This record gives sequence, C-alpha cells and structure tokens, in this order.
Amino acid sequence: MRDKLVVGNWKMNGGLKQNDALLGTLRAEWNAPAGRRLAVCVPSPYLFQAQAALSGSAIAWGAQNVSDRDAGAFTGEISAAMVAEFGCRYAIVGHSERRTLHGESDATVAAKASAALKAGLTPIVCVGETLEEREAGSTESVVTRQLGAVSAALGSKLAAIVLAYEPVWAIGTGRTATPQQAQDVHRLLRSRLAAADATATDVLVLYGGSVKADNAKALFRCPDIDGGLIGGASLKADEFLAIARA
Ligand code: PEP
Repeated sequence: MRDKLVVGNWKMNGGLKQNDALLGTLRAEWNAPAGRRLAVCVPSPYLFQAQAALSGSAIAWGAQNVSDRDAGAFTGEISAAMVAEFGCRYAIVGHSERRTLHGESDATVAAKASAALKAGLTPIVCVGETLEEREAGSTESVVTRQLGAVSAALGSKLAAIVLAYEPVWAIGTGRTATPQQAQDVHRLLRSRLAAADATATDVLVLYGGSVKADNAKALFRCPDIDGGLIGGASLKADEFLAIARA
C-alpha cells in the first residue's frame, strides 16, 4: 500500500501574519493518521517561517520552484541547495504556471528535478495537458513526453520523485477532472514509470486541479491516485485539512 500525500501549493499568496495563523492551525490540528502525509509548498521568503512553525511536527514543507543551476550570476534565481538549508523536503518543479508563464521547457524541468535531487530534496514533478491538447486527443503523448524528459535525465533516480498529474484546464478553474479521467492518466503514468525504471513502480502520483473537500474522496479512492497537489484550497486550513483526511 502506498501512502497518500497531500501537498499545498500556496502559489504567490501569503503574508507573515496570515501564514502564522494558517501554519499554526495546521500544526495544531493535523493528527497524522496512518498512511497519510501532509506538506505545504510556500513562497521562498516564507521558508524560514514554515521551518520555524512546522519543525518537529508531522507536516513537511517545500519550495515551489528551484533553479536548474548550482550557483553564480543568475540574478533573482534561488538554488535547490539554498532552499534545502531551510529544512525543505520537497520542491515543486514544472508547474504549468512555470511552463506557461515562464517558458520552462521539458529539458529545463528535467534539469530542475535533477538539481532538487542533488540537494537532497524530493522533486514534485508536474505534468499535464492543456484543454486544446486534450481535445486534440494528445493527452497521452503530452504527459509521456513530459515524463520522458525527466526520466531520461534522472535514470535510476526516477524512483525518488513524486509525480503530479495536473491537467492545465483544471488548475484554478473550478473544473476538476472526473475521477475516471484522472485515473486513466494516472494508470498510464504509472505504466510509463514502471517501463522507465523497475524501481519506480511505487512513485507517488498526485492529482492536482481544483481539488476541494467535496471532490477529494472520489479522486483519492482511485487505485492509481496517491493524493493531491492543492492550490487555492490549501490557503484555508479547514478545507485543506478536510482534503488531507479525505
Ligand atoms: C496547483 O496550483 O497546483 C493547483 C492544482 O491549483 P488549484 O487547486 O487551485 O486548481
């Protein structure tokens, strides 16, 4: 049995005061049921705060992005080693907002996943098709291509990632994939993981895209869905905790 992992992606939201309240409630109320794991990926300026608020608790924390480079003249970038110094367990890489708004290619995402692993972080690698790609029947080829770039770069380290299937048309739109639509892609991704590396069969594959407390249970019940990457709903403690317990 694989654990269920629920990860909050705060995106570019938060502030010292709000974060204190949210992190404090999560810490006080998360009782870590067996087989359930919880994490929050916060904006990098708040990693120190997340570390202070969550150290010693059952809740992990992480970054939302890292550079593919180690160090040097890359103004504004933040390296994986830097965020690792704040006790992060995870780093999201290849979120569709990074791919679309910041032009990150499959190769860049793969290099970021490598950089995260090198710094001792678990990369949460996001893949997913746009609405146009789904309607053109390209979902399978798109996610296979995106995962293929990561698997080619990581080789036998592929087993150390967390994978997140996030259909772009479902992110922040209120339009969730049906459990069957999500399960079909998750089953495909699991078979691609197994084909790429025999040790990668137990990689956790999370679903992301408008997950809420009232649709999480039906999604997480699917055999190849190992939890969720949660955007908007991770900013409300009660909603996020309800998803984590679903
Ligand atoms: C996300 O940002 O990864 C995400 C899934 O967002 P939302 O839950 O708001 O759709």
